[in-house]
Parts: sequence; C-alpha cells; structure tokens
Amino acid sequence: MNSMRVDVAIVGGGAIGAAAAYFLRRHPRSPSVVVIERDPSYQLASTPRASGGVRRLFSLPENIALSNFGIPFFETFDAEMAVAGEPAAINFRKSGYLFIVPPQATGVLARNFEVQQANGVRVEWLEPRNLKARFPSMNVDDLGAGVLSPDDGWLDPYAVLQGLRRKTRSLGVEFVNDEAVALDVDGKRVTAVQLKSGRTIRAEAVINAAGAWAKEICATVGWRVPIEPMRRYEHYFEAAEEIEPLPYIKDVHRLAFRPEGKGYTGGVPTLDEPRGYNFEVDHDYFQRVVWPALAARFPQFERIREKNVMSGLYDQNEFDATPIIGPWTKELENFYLMAGFSGHGLMHAPGCGRAIAELILHGRYETIDLARFGWSRVVNGERCAETGII
Ligand SMILES: Cc1cc2nc3c(=O)[nH]c(=O)nc-3n(C[C@H](O)[C@H](O)[C@H](O)COP(=O)(O)OP(=O)(O)OC[C@H]3O[C@@H](n4cnc5c(N)ncnc54)[C@H](O)[C@@H]3O)c2cc1C
Repeated sequence: MNSMRVDVAIVGGGAIGAAAAYFLRRHPRSPSVVVIERDPSYQLASTPRASGGVRRLFSLPENIALSNFGIPFFETFDAEMAVAGEPAAINFRKSGYLFIVPPQATGVLARNFEVQQANGVRVEWLEPRNLKARFPSMNVDDLGAGVLSPDDGWLDPYAVLQGLRRKTRSLGVEFVNDEAVALDVDGKRVTAVQLKSGRTIRAEAVINAAGAWAKEICATVGWRVPIEPMRRYEHYFEAAEEIEPLPYIKDVHRLAFRPEGKGYTGGVPTLDEPRGYNFEVDHDYFQRVVWPALAARFPQFERIREKNVMSGLYDQNEFDATPIIGPWTKELENFYLMAGFSGHGLMHAPGCGRAIAELILHGRYETIDLARFGWSRVVNGERCAETGII
C-alpha cells in the first residue's frame, strides 16, 4: 500500500516519539498513530546512549513538574508496560542525586533548593561537614554545599525504549521502518509525510520527535530551529579501591557520574564541542578532562581504568537549553516539535509525551502547563533557561 491515513504521524521513534505515541493511544479518544523510525536498531539514536539519570533537581518549575510525573512513572514502569504478563524491566535504582557546588555558587543552589521544596521535592541541604559525614571518601575542601534528592536515581535507557515500543505496539501503534524525507503542506497545515520508500502517510497532525536530527525535518518546510547535534562521551570506568555507595553526582564543571555494575558511568560534557553528526571518540579526553575531575573528588579514582567509552548526541537547544514543545505557531498549526532536550530527554519523555497528547487532542495543556516551552519564546527572544547546574 503506497498511502495510509492516520490521525497522528510521529517522525522519530526514540524515547520522545515512543512516549508521545503511548500517551496518545492511552487517551480515551485513542487516535490512530504511526511512528516513522528509519533505524529500528537505534544504532545512532540518543536514547540508548543516555546515562539513564532521572532527577528532580531543576530550577524551572516546568522541569520539576515533568520529573515529578516522570520518575513515579518509571518506578511503576515494569508492571505498567508489561505485555502479555511479561514485565518491562528497566532496573530503576532509587539511589539519589547529589549536586555539589563551590562556595561562590551556593546562592544559586539555595534559590533552586527553595524552588524544589516549594514544588514538592524531597531535598536535603548538606554543608561540607554533612557531605563528609555522608560520603567519607569525598574531598569536600573546595565545596560550599550540596543538595541531595534521595528519591531520584537512574535506570536502563535502552530497556525504557524497548518497553515503550512494545507496549505502544500492543496498543495498536505501527512503527513504520522508513525515513521521513518531506512534508506536504496545504496553507497553514501539514497534510502528509513523504517517506524515502515513496510511501505517503497522510495525517491530521505531525510530530517531529527526531531528536538531534529534528532540525533537518523542520528545514524541509523552511522552519529554522536553533537545535544542533552536540557530541558527548559516556565513559565506563572502575576504581582501584572501593568507595561507599554513591548517588548520581554532578558538579558545576559538568562532571556527572553514577555507579554502574562493578564501576561507574559518566563524563564531562562540554559546550565547546563543535556541533555536527560526529560519533568519533577522542580517546585522550578521559585522561585529559574526566580523570583529573574524578581524582580531585575521590582519592580512589587516582588509580582508575577506563574500560569503555561511547559517544552520543545531545539535541542541544542553542537558544536556552530548554526543549521546544508545541506547534510552529502562526505558520503550520498542526506541525508539532518535541526536541531540544539538551541532555534531559529521557527523564522528561513521559511528561512531554502526555503533554503533547493533551495539546493535540484538547488544544491546551491539562496537567503540566508547558506553554513557556513553546516556539513563541524563541520568536520573542525570551529565554526560559535553567540556572545553576544543568
Ligand atoms: C551521552 C548521553 C548521556 C545522556 N544522559 C541522559 C540522562 O542521564 N538523562 C536524560 O534524561 N537524558 C540523557 N541524555 C539525553 C537523552 O538521551 C535525549 O534527550 C533523549 O534520548 C532524546 O530522545 P529522542 O527520542 O528525542 O531522540 P533519539 O533517541 O535520538 O530518537 C530520535 C529518532 O529519530 C530517528 N530519525 C531521525 N530522523 C529521521 C527521519 N528523517 N525519519 C525517520 N526517523 C528519523 C532516529 O533514527 C532516532 O531513532 C543523554 C544523552 C547522551 C548523548
């Protein structure tokens, strides 16, 4: 069949596209949904390359609300996403998140701490002596304070993706193995997605959930978005000596790591990275940048072995590092963008998936108001950015 007709066509079947499909189908109106994914093995997709961290430590109330919804969603994911009695094991570990900052950054940390508390997050303020008592191996000499969110943690990103895919398919969503190459437009509406194979998918609404490739889909209709592919590395390493159990730790220099198996996984992403679809690995980066940061924090990392490294792409929003969610206002009213997650897309996939389902089916947000994440802010030059550690 060379043409099909659906209510909603989603371009990109990573965590974001799959979550959108799931929440659309779970809605009482249960629209027909197709997900167009060009690579069902997800070789270069960002989702399977993610570190798996899920946290409520944000400063924008919208981001906190997305996590307040998404983390409990992940806690019950295994059972909720079961298909034919088989659970979807995502290995959620509620081992906490810890942000640590130098003395000059405690003001921002304190303001964010208040916002987090006001938005119902269980957070603990830790002075350096408390940090030392809690994590005796940690060097706290240069630190001003830390904030711990014990209910946060991490999970297996690939298992989340497979769980969402399997469940969504069981709900009647078709994943079409093809590439979206063009959009048909009639006035202010997209009418169809053209596929590389020559097939056409006609749709009432189209969602662009193509992650780091989202700007390419936008470009086909002349929409220029400030979302760029930005490489970052995820390293797996082991310490020579044992360290007490750690949460997911992040600092102001973007060091971010957590326990994984016998060792740890994490890295130091840098905004200096040239933008582009580059998956090559600079094997000196760990030794040059990551190892010194780790060794300065924990003496056990003085002797360390990097056992594996993987590169992946952020869909980096150059405007304010906050995702762009919603239609191409005033231009194409039924063409929705969900991209620019800048490193937070896995944890916010459930909340954003539910939000886009509301927007498409009700014409407004019903639960979490993501109006500030819309395209208008870019047009109006109004940044909506996180403060402190992102
Ligand atoms: C190293 C690393 C660590 C990270 N750590 C975390 C973390 O700890 N927590 C967190 O929340 N986030 C993290 N992220 C970010 C997270 O991985 C992303 O924000 C998220 O996976 C984005 O999901 P997505 O579905 O938008 O993109 P993707 O998973 O990349 O999916 C997009 C899909 O679109 C498909 N596609 C593209 N163009 C087309 C087309 N024309 N036609 C058909 N299909 C197309 C691609 O094949 C791809 O499968 C990390 C990212 C990286 C790289």
